[in-house]
Amino acid sequence: MKKLLDMTIEELKEFASGMGEKPFRGKQIFLWLQRGVRSFDDMTDLSKDVRQKLQNGLLRGEYAIGGCSVADAQKDTLDGTIKFLMKMDSEQPEYVESVFMKYKYGNTLCVSSQIGCRMGCRFCASALGGFVRNLTAGEMLGQVLAAEQYTGEAINHIVVMGMGEPFDNYENVAGFLRLLHEENGRNMSYRNMTVSTSGLIPGIRKFAEDFPQANLAISLHRLTDKGRSEIMPVNKKYPLDELLEAAREYTDATHRRITFEYTLIKGENDSQEDVKLMVKKLGGILCHVNLIPLNKVEETGFDGTSRQRAEEIAKALEKSGIAATVRRELGGEIDGACGQLRLKKIQ
Ligand code: SAH
Repeated sequence: MKKLLDMTIEELKEFASGMGEKPFRGKQIFLWLQRGVRSFDDMTDLSKDVRQKLQNGLLRGEYAIGGCSVADAQKDTLDGTIKFLMKMDSEQPEYVESVFMKYKYGNTLCVSSQIGCRMGCRFCASALGGFVRNLTAGEMLGQVLAAEQYTGEAINHIVVMGMGEPFDNYENVAGFLRLLHEENGRNMSYRNMTVSTSGLIPGIRKFAEDFPQANLAISLHRLTDKGRSEIMPVNKKYPLDELLEAAREYTDATHRRITFEYTLIKGENDSQEDVKLMVKKLGGILCHVNLIPLNKVEETGFDGTSRQRAEEIAKALEKSGIAATVRRELGGEIDGACGQLRLKKIQ
């Protein structure tokens, strides 16, 4: 069924024409949807007749609004982080997580791009439930709208770092970024958008071409082929050196600094030897390393590196000329790691 939240202004204009209305009605509908309005009754610049007509089509099941709604929320009262369990607006009970974070420069939402994930990273909760399906552009936008509605605050940055591999769902993610960027709507700058990939090289190349102003993050976690393949099966298809070459091409083409994410797993990838390898492999790339002490996911058997050791590693990298930070610990009060809320729900 077509969902209105998936549509661009142009598509909504066609939709309005198809209903026998003037095309500009489509733009009005787009703007209401962008503000989080989901009921035609509240679209007050449409005449009563038009609203009724739209409502009738909805009731006849010709189309739906789409998106999602908040099913559960956990708030960290100290730093304001809210972890949401979002229920998709679909027939089956389907859930993803989104995380709202407050920073000095504004509010960020971490958005999911798929229900489940195909990548199978050994330390990640999203891999445990298997892959269910891709989210549509409107379902990603829906997470932003539902979080704004719930918090009463505007979201001005998004990171596609929730559940799923965004470049395994490239076109829908691209559609989502374009909906956010729509100048008549939210007009979010591409510079405020970040996409994180486990290393799908074709996606990285396409992203450099399509969104040269957006930010790219690549999850590395280990810097040998053997070691990386053990915890990230995707490395067998797209090996490390080819991935780093694609990263260099990306920075050459966009002149944008790339972020390498490095999840620190106790005793697995946090030794002096690992730091040396990082320096050797990443030196000379226009990059920044974001160190993330692993959030424990019971089922995986891995533990996180201590914050103190993480800081040490960051210092050692900085000393060798590689910009590095330890990700701020957000939501420390909220129990459960990335992906845990959904896991509890589906078990
Ligand atoms: N699939 C994409 C985006 C989702 S994951 C990717 O792999 O980049 C976002 C980041 O969180 C990735 O760097 C991922 O490796 C990391 N991550 C996954 N599980 C984690 C955990 N339990 N603790 C800390 N970081 C984790």
